[in-house]
Amino acid sequence: KRLRISDIVKGTDMVGREAQVKGWVRTKRGSKNVAFIALNDGSCIHNLQIVVDTEKFDEELLKKITTGAAINVIGKLVESQGKGQSVEMVAEKIELYGVADPLTYPLQKKGHTMEFLREIAHLRPRTNTFGAVFRIRHNMAIAIHSFFHEKGFYYFHTPIITASDCEGAGQMFKVTTLDLDCPPRNDEGTIDFKHDFFGRHANLTVSGQLEGELAAMALGSIYTFGPTFRAENSNTPRHLAEFWMIEPEMAFYEIEDNMDLAEEFIKYLVKWALDHCADDIEFLNNMIDKELRSRLEFVLQHDFVRLGYTEGIKILEDAVAKGQKFEFPIYWGADLAAEHERYLVEQHFKRPVILTDYPKEIKSFYMKQNDDGKTVRAMDVLFPKIGEIIGGSQREEDYDKLLTRANEMGVPMDDIWWYMDTRKYGTAPHSGFGLGFERLLLFVTGMSNIRDVIPFPRTPNNADF
Ligand code: ATP
Ligand code: MG
Ligand code: MG
Ligand code: MG
Repeated sequence: KRLRISDIVKGTDMVGREAQVKGWVRTKRGSKNVAFIALNDGSCIHNLQIVVDTEKFDEELLKKITTGAAINVIGKLVESQGKGQSVEMVAEKIELYGVADPLTYPLQKKGHTMEFLREIAHLRPRTNTFGAVFRIRHNMAIAIHSFFHEKGFYYFHTPIITASDCEGAGQMFKVTTLDLDCPPRNDEGTIDFKHDFFGRHANLTVSGQLEGELAAMALGSIYTFGPTFRAENSNTPRHLAEFWMIEPEMAFYEIEDNMDLAEEFIKYLVKWALDHCADDIEFLNNMIDKELRSRLEFVLQHDFVRLGYTEGIKILEDAVAKGQKFEFPIYWGADLAAEHERYLVEQHFKRPVILTDYPKEIKSFYMKQNDDGKTVRAMDVLFPKIGEIIGGSQREEDYDKLLTRANEMGVPMDDIWWYMDTRKYGTAPHSGFGLGFERLLLFVTGMSNIRDVIPFPRTPNNADF
C-alpha cells in the first residue's frame, strides 16, 4: 500500500507492514554492503530511512540515486535502531524516476544562505526550512477560513482589477492593453484611456476593503482573502509588491469590537499553528529562531496592550529624551516607522500593542473621525520583530463627513461614487481591518525576511519566477 511519510511517522502498528513510498532523496550514505537513503516526500519534515542491501540491487542503479533524485521504493517497515525515528524501511524494490546530477544540482547537503536560496526560488521548497514554511503557510490559510466560517462570516471575493485607489498612497500598478510605445493621446497630449480595454484607466487592487464594505452592508460580516499589489519603491524585509491580505469587514461593529476580533483572530491562528504544525515549528525553532515557540506561547497567554497614538508618541519622545536612538524623527503627527513600533512592543510594553486614534492626516479618507477634529478611529496591531501586522479602523458612516474628507484628500468621486452609496442608503456603524498574510507568517515561522514566506516573492527588479 502506498503511504505518505507523514502517515508512517504518525501511524501506529507500522512495524511489519509492506509499503510503498515515493519521494526525493535527501542524502545517501553507507558502506560496502549497506546503503542508507534519507527519503522525503514533502508530506512532513521527517525523512524515512531506507535501508538498502547493496548486494540485492544493480550497482548502476544505486550509483544514480544521489541527492535530489526521485524514486519509488517498495519494502518492509521495520523497527529502527537509529535515533529520532521509530521505523525505517528495508527496500525490496527500487525504481528510479529521475536523476539529479550531483555536478549541477544546487541543493547538496551543505547549508545554504537565504540569499542563495532566493536565487533558486524554483527549487527551494525542497529544503527542510522552506518545506516547513510552506506547510505552515497552507495551515494558516485553512485556519483563516475555519475561524471565519465558525463565526458565521462569509468569504467574499473582491476584484483584482479595479479603478479605485483604496489607500490613496499612489502605489498602484496600472493594467492596460494599450501599446505604450505609441499610446492614443487626447488633446492635452496625455494618454487617452478611453481606447483602453476597460474604457478607462484600471489598476491592480491595493486592498479589497472598499468592495468588502459593500458586502458587509449586505451580508453582515464578511472577509476577503486574496492577493493585493503595491508598487513599494523600497526594499524592506517586510514589504512585497504582491502579498496576500485577509480583510474582515463587519456591519454594526464599533472600534472596540474590531480590536476584540483582531486579537481573538491572531490568537486563534497562533494556537492553530502550535496544534497543527508542531513538528515544523519545532524544526524552525531549532534551526531558525530559538525563541519562536516561546514567543508564540507568550502571545496566547497575554492580553494585547491597547493604547492611544498620542500616548504612544509620548512614550517614544520620552525614550528619545533618555537617549534612545531612532533613524526617523518621531513627533505628534508622524507616521510610525517599524523601529518605533518595535520599540513600543519589544522594549516598552514587552507585549503586542494595539495603537488607536491616529492623526487623520496620516490615514486614509474612509476612517471615522473622532470628535476632537484631529484624529480618526484607526487601530494598528503591532508585533515583535515585525511592527505593524494589522491595519484597521472603524469606517466613517456619515455621508457628509466622508464626502468632505474624500474631497479634501483629492479622491475622485468618479472612482468611488458606488462606495458613497453605502452611506446614502441604510448606512450604519461598521469596521474592519487588514492582516498581511506574509507578516503573520513571519511571526509564526520565525523567518526574518518576507521574501522567505511566500513561494515566489515579487519585489523591485524581481518578477522572473
Ligand atoms: P506599512 O506601514 O508597513 O507600509 P501599511 O500601513 O501601508 O503598512 P495597510 O494599508 O494598513 O499597510 O495594509 C494592511 C496590512 O497589510 C498591513 O498591516 C500589513 O500587514 C500588510 N501590508 C501592507 N503593505 C504590505 C506589503 N507591501 N507587503 C506585505 N504586507 C503588507
Ligand atoms: Mg505601506
Ligand atoms: Mg502603516
Ligand atoms: Mg496600515
